[in-house]
Amino acid sequence: MNRRNFIRLSAAAAGAGVAAGSLGSLGTLTSCGSTAGRKKTRSGRMKLSFKPIMLQMKHVFNISGFSSSERPSVLVEITYDGITGYGEGGLPPYLIGQNHETVQQFLSKIDLEQFSDPFQLDDILTYVDNIAPGFTSPKSAVDIALHDLIGKLLDVPTWQMFGYTAEKAPDTAYTIGIDTEEMIRKKMLETEPYNIIKVKLGAPDIEADKMLINTVRSMTDKPIVADANMGWKNKHLALEMIHWIAERGALMIEQPLPVNVFDDMAWITERSPIPTYGDESCQRLQDVPRLQGIFHGINIKLIKCTGLYEARKMISTAEAVGMKVMLGCTTETSCGISAAAQVTPKVDFADVDGNLLISNDMFDGIKIVDGKIILNNRPGIGAIPL
Ligand code: MG
Repeated sequence: MNRRNFIRLSAAAAGAGVAAGSLGSLGTLTSCGSTAGRKKTRSGRMKLSFKPIMLQMKHVFNISGFSSSERPSVLVEITYDGITGYGEGGLPPYLIGQNHETVQQFLSKIDLEQFSDPFQLDDILTYVDNIAPGFTSPKSAVDIALHDLIGKLLDVPTWQMFGYTAEKAPDTAYTIGIDTEEMIRKKMLETEPYNIIKVKLGAPDIEADKMLINTVRSMTDKPIVADANMGWKNKHLALEMIHWIAERGALMIEQPLPVNVFDDMAWITERSPIPTYGDESCQRLQDVPRLQGIFHGINIKLIKCTGLYEARKMISTAEAVGMKVMLGCTTETSCGISAAAQVTPKVDFADVDGNLLISNDMFDGIKIVDGKIILNNRPGIGAIPL
């Protein structure tokens, strides 16, 4: 890193009115060290701190309805018994009402001193969830920090604590946003290390969607996963486009229609030649059973579902009703991305490239090698501040 960026961002955070002392240690802690035996000797109370950060995009990123050159995020630290767990919640524009100002107000209300230790995960997360409706991203940052902390206290990686096999983590997709042909060609050069290309469709003009696919196809025959981000407004046009992209090697389609047009979506799913996945239509656990028959699968994102604890319940529920699962992300540092990667051994598709799209990552975490997600053996989520 990037220390220069960190210092700059820290100064920006201070200017944004972060509570004194919050996340003061971030950037100096580089290792949790050995924690063997700590569970027996733990003591004290948990302390939570947080810091808003601004992530710089390598390219202006365009998806259906939004365009951005920088993205806000929030980092959370929870310290207990001399050990610190890290968490993060990205704040994309579609999380209405969740911005730097409001998430800091939300996080300020959390009092973890009433709990004896982080192993009371279920009680703590229920309490945090009940503080206010919404705020799924800062809730997820707290959930991640607790999982990281527990992993460090037990000296075990989070994926291992969940009982997963690291080698089963899939390839990640690399995302190409809506853009001009010239920019798509330029961005495609960066997709070389990846085995799956994710394309953002749903441009105002359907010909722009076709141009994007044709441009990608003129440069590679790698598999494509497609995300319309609700951009197609009627079921007939959407089904026609799904057939068109399937004929050009698309493996699946995410959210072709707006959120609540369930009858039309079920009509498409019944006829689609490739699996359909609900993303904007699938926020939290209670959405999973009601989407059975409407989509073939769901897209879980930690920032939507309040974190790893609920994400795992969603995976189990989807499994129980025969639905597929993809694990998505937003623009985040390697902290949030490493957390999301912990559950990827259990999913059909993974899209955990949010850290690869920014130029000021503040963590070292999971790696992508030859397109595949490589989970590390560090305790907790495997991310350490740079
Ligand atoms: Mg999506």
